[in-house]
Amino acid sequence: MDINKSTQLAKEISKKIGTKDYQDIILRILNNIKKGNKFDISSCYCCPETMIETDKTGENKPHIRLKLNKDIKKPEHIIWEILHEYGHCLSGIPEIPSINREIEAWDKAYLKLLKYPKLKIMEQSFFDYQKNCLETYYFKDFCLKGFNRND
Ligand SMILES: [Zn+2]
Repeated sequence: MDINKSTQLAKEISKKIGTKDYQDIILRILNNIKKGNKFDISSCYCCPETMIETDKTGENKPHIRLKLNKDIKKPEHIIWEILHEYGHCLSGIPEIPSINREIEAWDKAYLKLLKYPKLKIMEQSFFDYQKNCLETYYFKDFCLKGFNRND
């Protein structure tokens, strides 16, 4: 586990969200993700969206690329996003995106949230953010199905 890199990233995220209030929690989450050397996470300023990089050979561990050059409405949103991607890592990276895999990742994210009392008191913000994301996914899923039907 690369503690210095995690500390650096936690600081970078805190700077982006404009508060150090969550830096300790973010650091703990980052260390958790990197624990056991199964997953990795770093910031990204070129991805169109936050994503998980994988390769088919399985040689490289799944790597969360956290997009930081975008508008973040509430500081905690970045934490919900990290936990969601962590949820994907834990439930296996889907080759084909589906709404069920998204829900599974959010469920796992919520279980992680529960470990931090400081986050638990903000769970309504988590649910609101989750709802917002899922509505976007539902729409994407619908478009995809519509597209296939006409294909
Ligand atoms: Zn997702």
